[in-house]
Amino acid sequence: MQVINNFINGVQASSESGRVAPVFNPATGKQTAEVVLSTAAETRQAISVAADAFTKWASITPLNRARVLFKFKELVEKHRNELAEIISSEHGKVYSDAQGEVTRGLEVIEFACGVPHLLKGEHSLNVGTNVDSHSMMQPLGVVAGITPFNFPAMVPMWMFPIALACGNTFVLKPSEKDPTCPIRLAELLKEAGLPDGVFNVVNGDKESVDVLLTDSRIEAVSFVGSTPIAEYIYQTACAHGKRAQALGGAKNHMVIMPDADVDQTVNALMGAAYGSAGERCMAISVAVAVGDQVAEQLIDKLIPQVEQLKVGPGLGQTPENHMGPLVTKEHRDKVVSYIDAGVAAGAKLVVDGRDFVCKGNENGFYVGGTLFDHVKPDMKIYQEEIFGPVLCVVRVPDLKTAVELVNAHEYGNGTAIFTRDGNAARQYSQHIQVGMVGVNVPIPVPMAFHCFGGWKRSLFGPLHMHGPDGVRFYTRMKMVTSRWPDSATVQGAEFSMPTMK
Ligand code: NAD
Repeated sequence: MQVINNFINGVQASSESGRVAPVFNPATGKQTAEVVLSTAAETRQAISVAADAFTKWASITPLNRARVLFKFKELVEKHRNELAEIISSEHGKVYSDAQGEVTRGLEVIEFACGVPHLLKGEHSLNVGTNVDSHSMMQPLGVVAGITPFNFPAMVPMWMFPIALACGNTFVLKPSEKDPTCPIRLAELLKEAGLPDGVFNVVNGDKESVDVLLTDSRIEAVSFVGSTPIAEYIYQTACAHGKRAQALGGAKNHMVIMPDADVDQTVNALMGAAYGSAGERCMAISVAVAVGDQVAEQLIDKLIPQVEQLKVGPGLGQTPENHMGPLVTKEHRDKVVSYIDAGVAAGAKLVVDGRDFVCKGNENGFYVGGTLFDHVKPDMKIYQEEIFGPVLCVVRVPDLKTAVELVNAHEYGNGTAIFTRDGNAARQYSQHIQVGMVGVNVPIPVPMAFHCFGGWKRSLFGPLHMHGPDGVRFYTRMKMVTSRWPDSATVQGAEFSMPTMK
């Protein structure tokens, strides 16, 4: 059995814990590897290595740090097919989707390559007579990232390119479900010229995470995953004096107005609800139809498309499948149990994916596309994140009710409105309590030079991921106020509150 180790101080490192987690190919259901679950002491060792590497890395000029990232960008481009295959074989998503994930990660590297510009700071001449002020943005030290299974390349790359570019050193604790890609990224960083110890990967579970949250040498923690863990991470890291940003779960609504282009909306819903088998934090899992007429039109057009979804392995299929399996058998069973709960609660199951079997891959973790109509806000399938290929249609009479519905939900990650009415779109964007809004755009993921983050229980902490917030999160601001007195302006002691003259 292949063993996936840690990557510490520029080399692969095994663990003495004796604990491992299985890694599967979800398309076949076969175990392909096991990943080490590191001890607390091994996690502390990774922090020590990163702490030792910090002073030297931070003293390298931003321009030269950026040059390492430019080289890393070239290597990720060169190896993008290999990375996409690794992602698909451990996560299950289809190859083109895995390629898209690599591209979204590359965009953050491209943003981080501009770090000399991003760290310029501000300068004011003569804030008082002969007094100048300037700001410095300095790195924090050792920072940690804890990442989920659903984007094993992109989510770590939301974090470490910017953290490293700003002069920090990094310890990544990736998901134990698909850990090969982060190790490969660590190898590519080394090949790009990153000094040993600047980027380290520790595989593990709560034992490792708790060290990252409590060790005084970790200055900041970035987390992406489910909301209960995000809340725990945020509270624990803050209680130990660290900066934290913890992105959690989602239940993203698409509001469809009566004047929306129905065909365009159906196409958008199909991709946004069923792409990546619904295992995206920006997946649309609730379609809010404004009026019964648009609801009927949508359902009529969605049913044949959901029934005809091509479900199967993510790799080696021509033409490619639309969606692959779910990540584990446990997750598959959980999604099926949500569909059972929806039926029991009285929602109308119009397409049932529970009995889908993939011919030739009978043991893969598949669920077919599933569609519910007449879902009500008090149902568990409406309230909770299912994270599978299940779309719920909720009917409301008007836009005001749609807004109230979305605003009352505990999550506020992404949302979309489909309409031809500019004023409806404008009102919706302004009044909706959600962090990322699409107007006729189903998955409004901001580009790397903007910030990504939800509201309410989809994000804990004030700063979002990447873009200007990423630079703020990974730097500490210092203000320098300076005066160079000449003999004519030397003053005596001043005992009142100093003010600028
Ligand atoms: P998860 O919360 O189970 O795991 C995330 C990370 O936390 C993993 O590295 C895991 O090992 C670690 N972890 C799990 N349990 C822990 C515990 N008790 N103590 C400490 N660490 C623990 O999430 P997942 O299943 O890997 O990912 C799916 C979730 O991530 C979904 O809820 C999805 O919405 C969310 N997600 C959110 C965003 C976003 O931007 N808001 C992006 C991607 C994924």
